[in-house]
Amino acid sequence: MTTVILKPHKEESLKRYHPWVFSGAIARVVLDAKHKGDAPAEGELVCVRSAANEALGVGHWQIGSIAVRILAFGVEELPKNFWTERIRAAYQVREALGLIQNNPNTPNTLNNTFRLVHGEGDWLPGLIVDVYADTAVVQAHSVGMHVSRNEIAQALIDVVQQVKNVYYKSDDTLPFKAPIEGEKTGWLRNTGISESRDTEEFWSVENGLSFRIDWLRGQKTGFFVDQRENRALVERYAKGKDVLNMFCYTGGFSLYALRGGAKSVDSVDVSQKAIDLVNINVAKNFPDATNHTAVAADAFDYLSQQKAAGRTFDLIILDPPAFAKHRDAVKNALRGYQRINAKAIEMIRPGGLLFTFSCSQAVDKEAFRLAVFSAAAQVGRKVRILHQLHQPQDHPINIYHPEGEYLKGLVLYVE
Ligand code: SAH
Repeated sequence: MTTVILKPHKEESLKRYHPWVFSGAIARVVLDAKHKGDAPAEGELVCVRSAANEALGVGHWQIGSIAVRILAFGVEELPKNFWTERIRAAYQVREALGLIQNNPNTPNTLNNTFRLVHGEGDWLPGLIVDVYADTAVVQAHSVGMHVSRNEIAQALIDVVQQVKNVYYKSDDTLPFKAPIEGEKTGWLRNTGISESRDTEEFWSVENGLSFRIDWLRGQKTGFFVDQRENRALVERYAKGKDVLNMFCYTGGFSLYALRGGAKSVDSVDVSQKAIDLVNINVAKNFPDATNHTAVAADAFDYLSQQKAAGRTFDLIILDPPAFAKHRDAVKNALRGYQRINAKAIEMIRPGGLLFTFSCSQAVDKEAFRLAVFSAAAQVGRKVRILHQLHQPQDHPINIYHPEGEYLKGLVLYVE
């Protein structure tokens, strides 16, 4: 195996389980004998050693300032059964959380939707796996994970009882620093599902509510698993209320609000495809509902129009896409958050609630809170924080990878 030798004293962070080796820490690279090029290939497994030749770990080589992402610490080769064991460890966490269906030890028998692997948060840097009923959707954010995709798929089938199919969806997430071999999207394991399965009915269950998941054309892995707990909170407060779910995507918050006994629910998203799915999901779970309306519209335009029409709501949910994808976009993003929150707060009846979120990793909790409070001040309303929300337990955070912590939300009481 190719060996990466660090400069003196650069081994300390790896000994504290920091999963990345930066290129500046490397003294030299010794290519293994069968190597053809003059540098490791992107995605290749390499062994990292200290200046004193101590084996610090094995990881994926990549091009850029992060040169190696460590998979296994303190070893000189990847342990046998590495992928199976690591996926099993992730699975055990979800099992302990009560997220796995049909497990007599867990209280929840109504859920087969969960995030199984959250990158660094599960000691698998660059890998995301979401499970929907019998299908796992895998997303690689590093070439190393792309190279390892077949071993990952096999481990998923071997470890996760409910998983029979593995779909790979990395078109949008793989870095483009080197030419990448192999398909970035498609089935890795498939027990009899045709490529046209998306035209058939496919349902996944979250907390007893059925969702049609379209991983082929949908956003991310097909669904926003990260709002599960926050949706449940909306259910708790929805009774008798007129609810507006902005940026609804496939209607997650809307279904919980309906189950919670909302008087009316309006769902809005700019994507007509998303709105079609909301209607399918509402019809599946609440076939007799007459109190739900879904509209394809731009959020800013919609709120302006509704305001002009004199409409108000008891509970509004704002879950926009990441306004800041990079650090340099933070200022504009904060302006966007302030604008959209001001528009929403204006339309909340006195004593109503606002559920407002940011999934921009680059926008921190304090900055987001300030933007929301500025929005309230701007429209002359008094607000107080009732809940501070975040991503759920199946999205664990690695202390060395703050990027893994991205979702933040506030529930505000609006006077
Ligand atoms: N709340 C959703 C996830 C929201 S993702 C859930 O629980 O599943 C963000 C959504 O915002 C996407 O569906 C996207 O289509 C939509 N969106 C993006 N820009 C928009 C805009 N300007 N107006 C309305 N919706 C928008």
